[in-house]
Amino acid sequence: MARWWRDWSRGPAAAATDRAAARLRAHRWPAPLLDVIARLREGGHRAFLVGGAVRDALLGRRAGARFDVSTDLTPEQVIERFDRVEPTGLRHGTVLVIEGELLVECTTFRREGRYSDARRPDAVLWTKDPLEDLDRRDLTVNAMAFDPSSGELLDPHHGALDLERRRLRAVGEPLERFREDALRPLRVARFAAALEMEPDEDLRAALAEVSREGSGVVTAAVAPERVRDELSGILAAPRPSTGLELLREAGLLELWLPELARCRGVSQNRFHAFDVYFHSLATCDAAPAHKPVVRWAALLHDIGKPDTRVERDGEGTFYNHQFVGAELAEALLERLRVPQALCQAVTHLVREHMFDYHDDWSDAALRRWLRRVGTDAVADLFDLRIADMLGNGLKQGFPTYLETMRERITRLLEESRALVVSDLAVDGHDVMRELGVPPGPVVRAKLEALLEEVLDRPGRNTREHLLARLRQWRAGSGGPA
Ligand code: ATP
Ligand code: MG
Repeated sequence: MARWWRDWSRGPAAAATDRAAARLRAHRWPAPLLDVIARLREGGHRAFLVGGAVRDALLGRRAGARFDVSTDLTPEQVIERFDRVEPTGLRHGTVLVIEGELLVECTTFRREGRYSDARRPDAVLWTKDPLEDLDRRDLTVNAMAFDPSSGELLDPHHGALDLERRRLRAVGEPLERFREDALRPLRVARFAAALEMEPDEDLRAALAEVSREGSGVVTAAVAPERVRDELSGILAAPRPSTGLELLREAGLLELWLPELARCRGVSQNRFHAFDVYFHSLATCDAAPAHKPVVRWAALLHDIGKPDTRVERDGEGTFYNHQFVGAELAEALLERLRVPQALCQAVTHLVREHMFDYHDDWSDAALRRWLRRVGTDAVADLFDLRIADMLGNGLKQGFPTYLETMRERITRLLEESRALVVSDLAVDGHDVMRELGVPPGPVVRAKLEALLEEVLDRPGRNTREHLLARLRQWRAGSGGPA
């Protein structure tokens, strides 16, 4: 039999694996990563790049600083071979090797034991067989192993073909795999959105079963931090809506983001083509992917609408929904253990998202608005407004008033006028000295009063003038303070 015929007739999966192997051999891996693998292989041991590193190289996605490697060495043996290591997950056989900027997560080949709680396997069982190690992995596209030293690619589940066809497929029986670890449905949603790939029919059918009674998938057992990480991954994807819709199909949106799920079917008014839920998704898709604050705010900006809806002349009105929404958003983000700073920034945008602007606003009015919103948040708030407009589904034009507003703000900032107390030409020490008051809330109140004056008349932010004002106040003259 001719070789070309033999190779070709092995079928499309084998051919895809061959193509993948060729590409991985030609890939330019970071030199320190190759050094780590070579070091692990010393003495006849085995080491493979696995998981995201292999998958993302084949997809031509930019690699992060973190690589996953599997090996037959025990964690203790890995530790012995490197100077800088952190035993991050010893119980699961994982050691983090640090080489300059590069982080290599080295995990001993293992097969998974029984799961009795859908969270962690009861026992971790080591193996010498890299194929067994691939069997425990969740998706075929994540279950390839490549040894850059030998150029060998292991692809027992035909992940290379699935990658080419942009198809997510479970390793083994999907519902069974979800029962072992209830984080997996969330991972499927995250990978579908992040990699822009479609779950195959079996995986989709299993997703639909996840929240059914008696499915055996203990969805509530997943720690909020892990849910948060997967949701953050979905929100960083090109189109988060694909991942969020999969979560909804799996009944997981109800479980993890009920405030959003209940927006479905809440109809709006002539300014919107979508209900509140689909508008939220469209807004989120339209927000800049590299700004997690704006993506979260876009997703949550209208979650106050179901509680505030009042029908007038057949149309929905949502008076004060931004304030109700900000409170709901804060509680939701805290529940998901989102870091405090991110939570505060998102909540702030939700609260301020209804801002209104008219050309006849005075400079003082604009300065007051800037002070409330904070100069750091203005760009994010504009991004949110643009996304909100794009998300109404009516193909209305770009909100052009933002352009005038932006120009005016730029000019105000260039004039470097005072917007916050710390911009004033005097400080708390001056207030205490001039007024003869001790430290305390009164000092802050006096500074705020000076700022109020300066917001109206920026030219008065000079040391000379402000000290004179303080002296007037001390003397009991010069108007309210
Ligand atoms: P990325 O790092 O880009 O998020 P990744 O695929 O590398 O993607 P990791 O969470 O770093 O994801 O995990 C590395 C590999 O470990 C995965 O590719 C997969 O093979 C396996 N894996 C991780 N979590 C699970 C899980 N819950 N169930 C089964 N396999 C998993
Ligand atoms: Mg990874």
